[in-house]
Amino acid sequence: MKPFATSLLPSLIEAIAETIAINAEEVTALDQAIGDGDHVVNLQRGLHALMAQRDELGKLDWSVAWQKIGMTLMSTVGGASGSLFGTLFVAMSKAVLDRPLDLERFAEVFTQGVASVKLRGKADVGEKTMLDVLVPVADYLRSAATNRVEVSDVLTGVASAAIAGVEATRDMVATKGRASFLEERSRGHIDAGAKTTQLMICAIAGVLSTAPA
Ligand code: ADP
Ligand code: MG
Repeated sequence: MKPFATSLLPSLIEAIAETIAINAEEVTALDQAIGDGDHVVNLQRGLHALMAQRDELGKLDWSVAWQKIGMTLMSTVGGASGSLFGTLFVAMSKAVLDRPLDLERFAEVFTQGVASVKLRGKADVGEKTMLDVLVPVADYLRSAATNRVEVSDVLTGVASAAIAGVEATRDMVATKGRASFLEERSRGHIDAGAKTTQLMICAIAGVLSTAPA
């Protein structure tokens, strides 16, 4: 399989900014129900900064690009999600080294990024956070790489894992982040950070499925 190239970054960032803009009201309503309602505004600050950097990012190698993306998210997004999304990319930058990024390598690197988010947030699956999307996606990627699944099927599988993950947060009681203050009353609402994570992952899968092979 051909390795993924950073020249895809400008279209990936555009697609992510677009899906967050389209779904902004819905996600804000989710964060208003069990959080403080600022999640989309926080995230859009970071995406605005990444939009301005997108052409430059597309010329870097993965390690440098992810480091820059992570630092930008940490310094612009704020809230709990800023340091967590930032940590994901900085950890991926450290894990990728300078090896070509095929599916197997990406699955390993993404898994290490998600492991760092767990450490940073002192959280794991089942706590009604972005990890309920990130962890199943990482698990799916590793199993798809091991089973040598075709890339087009992997992209569909990634989107399905992300959607199943976000849906699962609805019935969970939050035990991390602001929503945990509501205890049992947090049940019945989808987690906003899980929702934006799913939207971004589905946008990435959409772009990659139309990228020239
Ligand atoms: P804040 O809660 O500080 O206002 P945001 O609204 O930007 O920050 O982000 C909230 C999202 O961050 C939540 O919906 C959840 O997905 C995620 N989150 C919060 N705390 C944690 C944690 N400890 N581990 C993983 N994700 C978390
Ligand atoms: Mg918030």
